[in-house]
Amino acid sequence: MHLKGTAAAPGLAIGPCLVLDDIQHQDFTHQTISDELAEEEIGKVKATLSLAEEQLTMIRDRADNAGLAEQAAVMDAQLAMLDDPLLKESFVSAITSQKLPAAGAIQKGIAAQADIFESLDDAYFRERAQDIRDIGRRLINILLGVEEPNIGILPEPLILIAHDITPSMMALVDTKNLLGIVAEIGGKTSHTAILAKNMDIPAVLGCHDIVKTVRALGPTATVAVDGSTGCVIVDLTDEETIDLKAEADRRQAAKDALTMLRDQPTVTKDGVSIQLLANVMGPGDVDKVLAVGSEGVGLYRTEILFMDRNKAPDEEEQYKAYRTMIEGLGGKPVIIRTLDIGGDKSVDYLNIAKEENPFLGYRALRLCLDRDDLFLTQLRAILRAAVHGQALVMFPMVCSLEELRAAKSKVELAKEQLKLRGEAYDEKIAVGIMIEIPSAAVIADVLIREADFFSIGSNDLTQYTLAVDRMNAKISYLYNSFHPAILRLLRLVIESVKPDDARKFVGMCGEMAGDPHATLVLLGLGLKEFSVDPANLLRIRKIINSVDFSYARSVAAKVLTLGSATEIEAYLAQALPEELRQY
Ligand code: PEP
Ligand code: MG
Repeated sequence: MHLKGTAAAPGLAIGPCLVLDDIQHQDFTHQTISDELAEEEIGKVKATLSLAEEQLTMIRDRADNAGLAEQAAVMDAQLAMLDDPLLKESFVSAITSQKLPAAGAIQKGIAAQADIFESLDDAYFRERAQDIRDIGRRLINILLGVEEPNIGILPEPLILIAHDITPSMMALVDTKNLLGIVAEIGGKTSHTAILAKNMDIPAVLGCHDIVKTVRALGPTATVAVDGSTGCVIVDLTDEETIDLKAEADRRQAAKDALTMLRDQPTVTKDGVSIQLLANVMGPGDVDKVLAVGSEGVGLYRTEILFMDRNKAPDEEEQYKAYRTMIEGLGGKPVIIRTLDIGGDKSVDYLNIAKEENPFLGYRALRLCLDRDDLFLTQLRAILRAAVHGQALVMFPMVCSLEELRAAKSKVELAKEQLKLRGEAYDEKIAVGIMIEIPSAAVIADVLIREADFFSIGSNDLTQYTLAVDRMNAKISYLYNSFHPAILRLLRLVIESVKPDDARKFVGMCGEMAGDPHATLVLLGLGLKEFSVDPANLLRIRKIINSVDFSYARSVAAKVLTLGSATEIEAYLAQALPEELRQY
């Protein structure tokens, strides 16, 4: 039987499974207590919170000691959520004013917080509801003395199946014996998905009824999880098992072949060198970036450091994070993007008012230029960290020359402040901008006179050019980076950077750079730097290293004559040499 869920982490796993019981808590929010018991219940909440903090710290340290930086970071995020004074206050006030028992107060406070996350437009923030529920489940288990399932040691290699596989379970699970995971809830950007990708574990989330279906088959059921397609097969026939094992071997062989490219330069068959860099979220990604032989970091999304916490990181904390990243890359370039937050990605402590059109609103560089406290602090941290290797600074959401100039003057101001403080900093740091607003693309020739480099943000450039909200599932069929308007803008931007000026360059860090179907046309348009998700990097290197630049040029020329995304995609699919299509 075939079930379908969300393809959350790629890979194919086949094997026996372990179905975890869903611990169903009773609903305590309708019970009430007498006034005299309030103090006692508040005491229980406090004791529960401190025990939860101990447990999460223990899981975090365990992950840290095992070198699982991403898992440790997710636990840090949960610790920050747990430490939120507003959350504690909501528990206490539910006891004192609504007369709820400790368990009811916790359930109510957690549900309210989860609802807030779920109402947000941004998928990343919406998925934080899962983390807050994970915390809530832990608190109630502690309060009721319920044991968490022990998945720290798995008896044999198996696929884990549960209603919910939480981020804290992912941080604890026995990775040696974990073949794959399937859960009934969770989505692509949940921490569970992020961790599964990071651990290289195939994952399908949001797979309804998987628990019931597998249970009905009994304990010996063999399951296949295809995290690349979102398909789960539960009652495998012998024939299917043979076919799927062959498919898994084929994918493994292709993966191994890619691994051999790890230490190779990125260069077309006729000798055109390309810089192939990686997109990262934080220092926890350094190992992943080096493991795939990336030539540097083309997009460091620093906003991650500002999320899931109660106040902005100070200069020292930022300096340490940027320095760790820069030193980790050992002299390879690291493009640090300044804070790209606000509007849809709201962060409570920034107190940004709700807006009618958050994507067109007070966000990213617009916010930074209005908030010296945030912007200068970040710029000083970047400038100081930059002396430990090779860093470049990049501004998101630039729409005019005035904005570029204003941002550059802040860099100069930050340098002066550091000079006065007698701190070491990178006097000559390169300053570039993202091209993700159509107005910036159209005046790229003007902007490049005053910017050291461009990195095209195809994700936003597509949404703004086509007037299609990238988060709106109802109109997602209109969101397509292969629209001829986007390709014409790309040509304009790329051609505005003269190849004979060796000091300037143009790259791309949006998802399109990591899409194998886009590689030929981007190469042919003259893009010199591709920054991609580390998971896609070797695939893109394989394609670039297997084709001639002259061929890519002819493909790009042809694409520019086509009138619709449908024609362009069909043409590009067949333009890719057959042996490269599997990548
Ligand atoms: C982009 O817009 O293409 C981009 C890389 O930025 P983000 O996805 O972080 O908005
Ligand atoms: Mg963007």
